[in-house]
Amino acid sequence: MKCRHCGNERFIPFADLQNCPPSNAMLTTAMLDAPEVYYPLVVAVCDVCFLAQVGEHKSAAEIFDSDYTYFSSFSRSWLDHAERFAAMAVERFGLGPSSQVVEVASNDGYLLQYFQARGIPVQGVDPTANTAEAAAAKGIPTIVDFFGKQLAEEQLAARADLIVGNNVFAHVPDINDFTAGLKAALAPDGVISLEFPHLLRLIDEAQFDTIYHEHFSYLSLAATEAIFNSQGLKVFDVEQLPTHGGSLRVFGAHADDVSKGRSNRIDDVLAEEEEAGLRGRTVYENFQPRIDRIRADFVSFLLEQRAAGKTVAGYGAAAKGNTLLNYCGVKGNELVRFVADASPHKQGRWLPGSHIPVVAPDRIYAEKPDFIIIFPWNLRDEIVAQLADARSWGAKFVTAIPELQIL
Ligand SMILES: [Zn+2]
Repeated sequence: MKCRHCGNERFIPFADLQNCPPSNAMLTTAMLDAPEVYYPLVVAVCDVCFLAQVGEHKSAAEIFDSDYTYFSSFSRSWLDHAERFAAMAVERFGLGPSSQVVEVASNDGYLLQYFQARGIPVQGVDPTANTAEAAAAKGIPTIVDFFGKQLAEEQLAARADLIVGNNVFAHVPDINDFTAGLKAALAPDGVISLEFPHLLRLIDEAQFDTIYHEHFSYLSLAATEAIFNSQGLKVFDVEQLPTHGGSLRVFGAHADDVSKGRSNRIDDVLAEEEEAGLRGRTVYENFQPRIDRIRADFVSFLLEQRAAGKTVAGYGAAAKGNTLLNYCGVKGNELVRFVADASPHKQGRWLPGSHIPVVAPDRIYAEKPDFIIIFPWNLRDEIVAQLADARSWGAKFVTAIPELQIL
């Protein structure tokens, strides 16, 4: 294994989740009869540049096949987040009808629609054909391909006044080539805005279920700044966001763009990372015992409920739940009867590895489970509010991370 950024071959151990199938690959009923491929899921930290990363065992083309089922527009809180971002960016960066906004991993146009509504030309880039079709239905043009240096040079050359990448930077296998693509697509005084989960929050809150094969990098601001600098870019501002359990929004520009001074907020976050020990070994080496304790508590809870004759269901068929269930070795629907999800693209399918059925939320009201595990704990309040009627038969809500909580 070589560091994806600097090529170094020495790593600090961080999290070993053993073998898991890809977390985003929901299974069809026919697929249950076929063998399922498991890959090692191990995160280690480069001991030179401190980029935390998973080993690559699966090609990007396999992960983002045409059957990929995540549509961003099914989360109301995420749409609200996107709308607020668009309003802020238009104001702060003075965007108008002669500007060009590019989004990498534009999905179904959940974000670009808010720029377009303000009369600003937009261009999406996304390798997934069926989400790009949903974007086209909103009138949002999408280049259906993987973003990188070559695509940026050929199709976007220095045109973008704003390039947005939300939850994509950590998901690209070749992070240097992706960053070179940002550089190539960016107008001389343009702005890059990237959002990704902050490694510091992952560690603080034991969010090991955010680890999955398609999530190649676990980023600190320090590592991000090093990657930007290596490609002729600079970070000029950063915000800390509550999304996905705690994210960074990093603003970048060309390294020689003197119109953008360095915000003090950068040094504040860097100091916080330094203080937490992200540039040492101990903080990483101490992580595995914490996730093993979470596994023990979660499995004990499920076994206790079965022994007591109680029923347990889940809500939210997202990658997080799959990492948790597979690491905990949950198989079949004996311990978790089903997982409900509002997305019709997921209903009727099965979770990878555990083979728990994914059903419509109605099933919760039909079967009245005693406990409902909320797998996307980052959307906990939104989901508890949506399912408030389940309190009428005494159902309790459960989250497993950072520790088992019954709400
Ligand atoms: Zn490195």
